[in-house]
Amino acid sequence: MKITKAEVFVTSPSRNFVTLRIETDEGLVGIGDATLNGRELAVAAYLKEHVVQLLIGKDPSNIEDTWQFLYRSSYWRRGPVTMAAIASVDMALWDIKGKAANMPVYQLLGGASRRGLRAYGHASGTDIESLFDSIRAHLEQGYKSVRVQTAIPGIKAVYGVAAQTQASGERYDYEPAGRGAFPTEEDWDTRAYLRHLPTVFEAVRNEFGPELPLLHDGHHRMTPIQAARLGKDLEPYDLFWLEDCTPAENQEGLRLVRQHTTTPLAIGEIFNTIWDFQLLIKEQLIDYVRAASTHFGGISPLKKVMAFAEQYQIKSGFHGPTDISPIGFAAQLHVGLSIHNYGIQEYMQHSAATNQVFEQQMTFIDGYLHPGEAPGLGVEFNVEAANAFPYQQAYLPYNRLVDGTVHDW
Ligand SMILES: [Mg+2]
Repeated sequence: MKITKAEVFVTSPSRNFVTLRIETDEGLVGIGDATLNGRELAVAAYLKEHVVQLLIGKDPSNIEDTWQFLYRSSYWRRGPVTMAAIASVDMALWDIKGKAANMPVYQLLGGASRRGLRAYGHASGTDIESLFDSIRAHLEQGYKSVRVQTAIPGIKAVYGVAAQTQASGERYDYEPAGRGAFPTEEDWDTRAYLRHLPTVFEAVRNEFGPELPLLHDGHHRMTPIQAARLGKDLEPYDLFWLEDCTPAENQEGLRLVRQHTTTPLAIGEIFNTIWDFQLLIKEQLIDYVRAASTHFGGISPLKKVMAFAEQYQIKSGFHGPTDISPIGFAAQLHVGLSIHNYGIQEYMQHSAATNQVFEQQMTFIDGYLHPGEAPGLGVEFNVEAANAFPYQQAYLPYNRLVDGTVHDW
């Protein structure tokens, strides 16, 4: 079998997605996700200008060799643009291999290790009442675990709070990236956040009881000592995890957090390679790997990082909001179903327009995800529907402190 064609599509059904579509001389088609939120055209150009021509004539069955060739032959390794481009090739080749074998990808990865994949959704509110309503709505949809994010008194717009009016007047429902030629400015005050958040979790525990697994995303805004304090303050409320408590480029900083709290830690959604996790896994500084197939080089490296993590009883918690296309999401479900050390999967649900472009076999039943039994990844890319939603420039917001200093968003 040989690759005869590789095309890159940028489409915007509710939000932007970059998709690689590979054709073979045997008529099999594979698709991969190369979406990098707010920097989509950089990955599209990387693929179109530097990768597509290298694939023509190659045997699509040599997935590992192709991955190593793209990673090592560029000399300039790593980084989100490069790794999203490589991820899309890797996923497309796994998709083709599954179709050639007439098996879902999880079967090629070793078969199912469980019946379904526990998922968590994003509950949020501008106040306690709207937060409770959002948690109830998620429980009614079948979610058995819930991430909790709320507005902070005195702060105008906070990451992760749905239906919260932003400075631009737009709402957060599906995507924090605002369409337009410049990112929206938001404000931030870590001390106000640290004071407020434990009171929110106390209220949620009082209302919903001790059993419901609760998660929270700090979104990289704390220093290590601030994160240590928050983890300690949240211990009475028994979190499933505290996510992205620090920016994590400073990996040693997690040692300090770990020394002070037993709240489980999850990190890694902005990591691009297994090496970004090396110290964190080896020293057992985290409990969950937050990598995303799309930003981590695809299915092949995701399997490797989870095999490494397995030795330390560290589990998966793959990044899964709507900035991962249904292709990247399916790739994670196949990995999650096959590995032993599965933890939980973030699941935010794509919009109707997105589901029109990406036709999915995946199911979400009684709180559990399953990638389905279709050969390959189980996602069909509808080119005609994709072309009806042209790219629209969009940026993620950024933060400034009260004195005007730029802060982590
Ligand atoms: Mg996060």
